[in-house]
Amino acid sequence: MRVTVLGCSGSGPGPESPASGYLVTAGSTAVTLDLGNGTFGALQRHLDPWELDAVAFSHLHPDHCADFTSLVVHRRYHPRPPYDPTTRPLPVHAPAEAPDRFAAAYAPSAAERAETDLTDVFTFHALTDGGASDVEAVTLTARRVDHLCESYGLRVDAGGRSLVYSGDTGPCTALVALASGADVLLCEATWPHVMPEWGDEPPTGVHLSGRQAGEHAAAAGVGRLLITHVPAWFDGEELLAEAKAAFDGPVELVAPDGSYEI
Ligand SMILES: [Zn+2]
Ligand SMILES: [Zn+2]
Repeated sequence: MRVTVLGCSGSGPGPESPASGYLVTAGSTAVTLDLGNGTFGALQRHLDPWELDAVAFSHLHPDHCADFTSLVVHRRYHPRPPYDPTTRPLPVHAPAEAPDRFAAAYAPSAAERAETDLTDVFTFHALTDGGASDVEAVTLTARRVDHLCESYGLRVDAGGRSLVYSGDTGPCTALVALASGADVLLCEATWPHVMPEWGDEPPTGVHLSGRQAGEHAAAAGVGRLLITHVPAWFDGEELLAEAKAAFDGPVELVAPDGSYEI
């Protein structure tokens, strides 16, 4: 199994990277985890989008799903599709509100939204806490995490290997449970642990600090920690140092277009 970073800039695209999106491949199976702003362009450097077997979304903030709109255009209007997408709709695993959210993001008027539910080229599967789905060679498992809206950590298992993606979350025991014993935890770290605005402890229910990402990796006993979702306005090296201080295993800050064997 391999994860390729389509974008890793936290909270929105930055000068060096699109927003959040990851391509996971295992054998001939290909799945994306989130498609934030700019990631659909990056995806095309690594995979023909027609080869996707499913797309999954941790939550519906724009920095994690804005480029779904580009995938709609690609599947509906590509002049030479390799197959008829209306006979092979692409599975979308996402929070239950995704059909409404994506139709609203795609269609520019109320009149078009009244006719556009996107099910001509997609099938929607609502994520549930603890629910699992098979996508070809991989199993996708979701756990509800602690963010500002309905959000899930996502685990991908294939061939005895495992990747867990935090999505966006504050400190959360469900993330530790989901990541327990995983080979790789791809974990958000969005801000420094200590800030003048909040003193010694960051706010809960929103994001993790670099230190908290390391603490979650240690509590889950993962093999390796990949740090992501650092916004352009913070220093990734500082958050990486926090994570390294809290977790004894290998830790890396991911880079756009970086590819990591699981
Ligand atoms: Zn985010
Ligand atoms: Zn978010």
